[in-house]
Amino acid sequence: MERVVMKFGGTSVANEERIEKAASLIIEEVQNGKQVAVVVSAMGKTTDNLLSLAGEIHPDATERELDMLLTTGEQVTASLLAMAITAKGAAAKSFTGWQAGIQTDSLHSNARIENVDGNKVNETLNAGGVAVITGFQGIDTEGEITTLGRGGSDTSAVAVAIAIEASSCDIYTDVEGVYTTDPRVIEEASKLTEISYDEMLELANLGAGVLHPRAIEFAKNHQMPLRVKPAHTAGQGTIIKEEIEMETNLIVRGVAFEEDIVRITIMYDTPYNGSLANVFTALAEEHVNVDIIVQTIMEGEQPSVSFSIKNEDFAKAMSVLEVNKEHLGYKRADFEVGLAKVSIVGSGMVSNPGVAANMFDALRIAGIPIKMVSTSEIKVSVVIPTTQMNEAVAALHKEFALEQIR
Ligand code: ADP
Ligand code: ASP
Ligand code: MG
Repeated sequence: MERVVMKFGGTSVANEERIEKAASLIIEEVQNGKQVAVVVSAMGKTTDNLLSLAGEIHPDATERELDMLLTTGEQVTASLLAMAITAKGAAAKSFTGWQAGIQTDSLHSNARIENVDGNKVNETLNAGGVAVITGFQGIDTEGEITTLGRGGSDTSAVAVAIAIEASSCDIYTDVEGVYTTDPRVIEEASKLTEISYDEMLELANLGAGVLHPRAIEFAKNHQMPLRVKPAHTAGQGTIIKEEIEMETNLIVRGVAFEEDIVRITIMYDTPYNGSLANVFTALAEEHVNVDIIVQTIMEGEQPSVSFSIKNEDFAKAMSVLEVNKEHLGYKRADFEVGLAKVSIVGSGMVSNPGVAANMFDALRIAGIPIKMVSTSEIKVSVVIPTTQMNEAVAALHKEFALEQIR
């Protein structure tokens, strides 16, 4: 019998009415002759609310306690949805992460799934019931409850799909599918019929919040077809898979963006030996994620290195630099906050050398200053002022005629 995983995000289970709607969609699949495992997020803004509640009680609570708290959100949804399905006359049973055999490493708040033992879920499916599983959570080998990072229910869904050998993993959400950019920001964004794992992974890593990046990685590694579908309409959504039919002239397929970027610049008096490695080793030891790095060494000029990080790592990064100032041998460290990263993504870029130039030109015409640049085979990213982020996204969307993509 064909098996599928259906995952419902927070907005799609935000209230009783939407839980009922999700239950009906699930029962439809059962009536189509499929065995269905469901993965759910916490209702609406529950996770945010729990986090702010914790912040009021202890601003610096341990990640273990936060995981304990946040995982309750998904548990509420799973039980309510199982009840909604049974109320409609079908069989269903809810499972927490550990009950569903989702085993992770021990990194609280950002754990990785190491193994899924699908036995219990399979038992329910084989008995003709729907298994409703809490997303976002697992258990480590010590029996501690962990979470997978914000948006992590997508990853739970793919991991379960792989474990139970589902034919596909359908991610039901609050938009019609994957668009050329966030449709809530750019009205002209077009919905894509399909997109490759690699392009989707790049978009997600560069800020497109529609899918958790690790979900795409997992799906690609196991060749699990992923579908992003609307929970509120009958739309067909977007298929994410290995090979997609290339339309002609499709060089750029999407624009992603991300706020809260900080640029740090370290200046030296004299040319330095080996200290570039020292800087990034010191930052890495404190788990500061460095993104773009630009180094300038020119004769007669002060050597300097700039790098970008997320705002959340800013205080830690500055303190690492300060504590190690003598050992790192730099003269001065400067920073600039209020920055954003805007990226264009498309696998057609590899063979089209003019793309970056077109991007820079479009931004110049829009009067948007570029602070940093980074490129790979399938993307170009620029760091710009946050105040001009939406304008930049609109300009690039237009420059590459993304409103015409289907
Ligand atoms: P869920 O709660 O269902 O997991 P998310 O909020 O995590 O939903 O993801 C859906 C949101 O992702 C959309 O509401 C949309 O604003 C945002 N988004 C960002 N980039 C894109 C994109 N390229 N295509 C579609 N949605 C996007
Ligand atoms: N509820 C979690 C969050 O809000 C996980 C998820 O929705 O995927 O991040
Ligand atoms: Mg999500």
